[in-house]
Amino acid sequence: MTISKILASTVLLGALSVFAPLTYAKTCELSIEGNDAMQFNHPTLAVAADCTEVKLTLKHSGKLPAQAMGHNWVLTETSVFQAVATAGMSAGLPNNYVPKDDARVIAHTKVIGGGQSDSVTFPVSKLKKGGDYTFFCSFPGHWSVMKGKLTFG
Ligand code: ZN
Repeated sequence: MTISKILASTVLLGALSVFAPLTYAKTCELSIEGNDAMQFNHPTLAVAADCTEVKLTLKHSGKLPAQAMGHNWVLTETSVFQAVATAGMSAGLPNNYVPKDDARVIAHTKVIGGGQSDSVTFPVSKLKKGGDYTFFCSFPGHWSVMKGKLTFG
C-alpha cells in the first residue's frame, strides 16, 4: 500500500466516524414536570418511530423536599407497573424507590425534591413499536395517581 492510499483510507475512516452518528443516531428529548399536588403535567408521552434513544428530563416544579413529596419517573410495561411500584416501595429512598437490578424497569430517574431536576437516557431498542408502556412516580402512595402512558412509533 502506498503512503497516499494509507492517507486516503485514514481520511475516509475519519469521515465515517464523524458523520455516521449524525446520520444514524437521533436522541429525542422528552420533558415532564411533577408538582407539590402529586401531579405530572402530561398524561401521555410519545416517542417518534425514528428516535434511536430517548432523553427524559423530570423537573420538580414544587417546593417540598424529596422526603415529603419526592418524585421520580419510572418506565415499565403496563402489565408489570403495579408490581414494580410495590417492589419499589420496599427498596426505599436510598434506592430511589426502584427495585435494584430489576429487568422490568426500562428506565428511571432518581427521586428529586422541589426545584430539582434529573434526566435519564435510554435506547429505544428497549421498546417495541406499539407496545403498552406506563410511566409513573414510584414514591410511596404516588403511583396510583402519578402515572401515564408512553407510546413508541
Ligand atoms: Zn411522586
